[in-house]
Amino acid sequence: MSNTLPYADLHLHTIYSDGSMQPYEVLQYAEKYKFKAVSITDHDTVSGIEESIKEGKRLNIEVISGIELSAVVEEEEIHILGYCIDWQDSRFLNELARLKVKRENRIKKMLAHLERLNIKINIDELINFAGSGTIGRLHLAHFLCNKGIVDTVYEAFDKYIGKHKPAYERVNALTVKEAIELIIKYGGIPVYAHPALNRMDSIIPSMIEYGLGGIEVYHSSQSKKELETYMALAEENGLLVTGGSDCHGKGKLNILIGKVKLPYYYVEMLKTMT
Ligand code: AMP
Ligand code: FE
Ligand code: FE
Ligand code: ZN
Repeated sequence: MSNTLPYADLHLHTIYSDGSMQPYEVLQYAEKYKFKAVSITDHDTVSGIEESIKEGKRLNIEVISGIELSAVVEEEEIHILGYCIDWQDSRFLNELARLKVKRENRIKKMLAHLERLNIKINIDELINFAGSGTIGRLHLAHFLCNKGIVDTVYEAFDKYIGKHKPAYERVNALTVKEAIELIIKYGGIPVYAHPALNRMDSIIPSMIEYGLGGIEVYHSSQSKKELETYMALAEENGLLVTGGSDCHGKGKLNILIGKVKLPYYYVEMLKTMT
C-alpha cells in the first residue's frame, strides 16, 4: 500500500539508542500511520539508519538520515537534531565513536553515585542490557526498574537520575557550537530539538550565528500554544520548521508515533537546504 497522506515524523528512536523498537518495527508503525517520510534520530548514533532505509524502501516510506546530538550550553544539556547527514562518512563515525565512550564513562560515574546510595549495579550487565548502541539514562532507568529498585522509569528519574538528583551526571557532550558545526561539517542541517522542554530561548540567537538551520516546532511534549510560539519564532528568523513524536517505543508510557504529524511540505523544504 502506498502512502498518500503527506505527513512525516522526523523524530524517532530505536534500540540503537534508548528506544525499545528495532528500526524495522518503527518503520512498520510508520506504515500503519501512513507516513510518507520518517527520520530515525537516535542519541549520538547513526547505527539504525541503514536498516531503516532498507525497510523504508520495502514499505515505500522515505527515510531521511538523522541524529540527535547532546550538547551543553550554560551548564544545561540540550539536543540538536541533524538531518540529511553523511551517515556513512568514516570521519563522522569516528567522532561518534568518541561520544559513545564518553556516554559509557558518564554512566559509570552515575553508577558510582548510586553505589554511595547503597545501590549496586554491575556495569557490564547494564552495558549488555543497553545493547550495541549508545547508552543513556533511560536504559539505566529501565534497569533500575527490572532490578526492583524503583517501580517505574519515572520514579528512577524523580529519585535518582533526573537533573539535580543525587545520581545525575551530565553527558560530557559537545558544546552547542561544536554540535552545530559537526552536523554542518558532515552535510547535515542542524535543528534545535524540543525547545519548549529546555526553556532557554535566549540561546537561539547565538545558535543561529553558529549555523542553526531549523527548529523543532511540532513535538509530542509541546502544547499547541508552544507550537504557535515556535512557529512564529521560526518565521521571524528564517528557520526551517521540523517536527516529530520523539517516540521511544514502549520505553516511555505510550508509543508516541502517530501523535505528531508534520506536513510533508516541510520535508521538501528541508531537502532544498542540502
Ligand atoms: P541522556 O541523553 O542519557 O541524558 O538521556 C536523555 C533521555 O532520557 C531523553 O531523551 C529521554 O529519553 C530520557 N529522559 C530524560 N528525562 C526523563 C524523564 N524525566 N522521564 C523519562 N525519560 C526521561
Ligand atoms: Fe531519549
Ligand atoms: Fe531529545
Ligand atoms: Zn529524542
